[in-house]
Amino acid sequence: MYTYESSKAAFERAQKSIPGGVNSPVRAFKNVGGIPLFLEKAEGAYLYDIDGNKYVDFVGSWGPMILGHAHRPVIEAIQKKAEKSTSFGAPTELETEIAELIKSMVPNVDLIRMVNSGTEACMSAIRLARGYTGKNKFIKFDGCYHGHADMFLVNAGSGVATLNIQTVPGVTAGVTNDTLIAPYNDLEAVKKLVAEHKDEIAAIIVEPVAGNMGCVLPKVGFLDGLRAICDENKMLLIFDEVMTGFRQSKGGAQARLNIDADLMTFGKVIGAGLPVGAFAGKKEIMSHIAPLGNVYQAGTLSGNPLAMIAGFTLLSELNLHPEYYTELAEKAAYLKKGIIDVFAKHDEPVQVNQLGSMMSLFFNAAPVTDFATSAASDQAKFSKFFHGLLKRGVYLPASQYECWFLSNALTIADLDFTIKAMDESLSELSA
Ligand code: PLP
Repeated sequence: MYTYESSKAAFERAQKSIPGGVNSPVRAFKNVGGIPLFLEKAEGAYLYDIDGNKYVDFVGSWGPMILGHAHRPVIEAIQKKAEKSTSFGAPTELETEIAELIKSMVPNVDLIRMVNSGTEACMSAIRLARGYTGKNKFIKFDGCYHGHADMFLVNAGSGVATLNIQTVPGVTAGVTNDTLIAPYNDLEAVKKLVAEHKDEIAAIIVEPVAGNMGCVLPKVGFLDGLRAICDENKMLLIFDEVMTGFRQSKGGAQARLNIDADLMTFGKVIGAGLPVGAFAGKKEIMSHIAPLGNVYQAGTLSGNPLAMIAGFTLLSELNLHPEYYTELAEKAAYLKKGIIDVFAKHDEPVQVNQLGSMMSLFFNAAPVTDFATSAASDQAKFSKFFHGLLKRGVYLPASQYECWFLSNALTIADLDFTIKAMDESLSELSA
């Protein structure tokens, strides 16, 4: 029997000093209710909370832990590097090594700039697209999340959708006027925006596989269509690969889906759990970044040696082992089939969206292809299901609007354990 007394006390204490007791909103379990678990450690596919409970983890620190937690080569590399200082704020050869490695793995990367988060990567990519094209507006999709920079907090997914925040206080209309919104998977809506704002749009930014309204896949032709619209209108196509980068394949969604982007942004896997982001693209565009050009972008801790060695170690391993991606996809497909079977057994309609090791389920009888269809899912049922799983030792993201990230540390036994826990949780749901 799982008890949460220590997490409860820790949460009460945290709320006295930290807004909502957390340093990022979705961690507070507000959408699903209950006490957020305070974690003690994690190893491979398992999390351990401060009450000593063990969980099979499907969050993976929201993406970075593709080979599992406390991956030994990463930990050892960080430890060794830390002996030589934690930061220099001056160039290191390691920064070039990771840049060269990424160039060899990901298409369309001539130059890459390291930053400290996915948010920074996306906001810098938009600034660069504006500086390069001389145009101000950009298109983003309803339910996509590109970090918490002001201009992205319009119809945003992830925690913004989870907390149902319609307008974010503190974000001025002046900033958001330049953010144009279209439904995901809707090329006609994009064409309409482009026609209405002829010669004003610098870029389209898109999650090539969306993960911030739950997992939502691009329809056949959607991303190709965006590519064509950008080419016809001298706009840049920015793939936000913060979730998909080094996860959908070693070359990210670009390589997996065979579409070329002009700029890409990275986060999560690229830093192996340390705070790293990056933006990258062709030389012609990237050479507008300072000090080569005048589009300014900087960071005291950018290219930090601990973050770089962690990322370099993980990416090197992924580069050498393409079979990991096959294994991950097979595990995800196994879990998907298990979910579909167990929901059918309980006569509970479900949608399972999955590509590679990104997936999520929706309590919904109709296909989920955009934010509106995702939002029409039964959130109350998801919350009960979430807690049913939690008390049986399975840790899902605490919102239907979040993607699950599978790690290759998961075993078939872990997946069978999870499917059994789902079976029992569904019995409770209908009881
Ligand atoms: N872009 C995408 C697709 C994301 O999922 C996220 C975060 O989840 C971000 C950008 C922002 O990244 P960070 O939280 O590292 O700032």
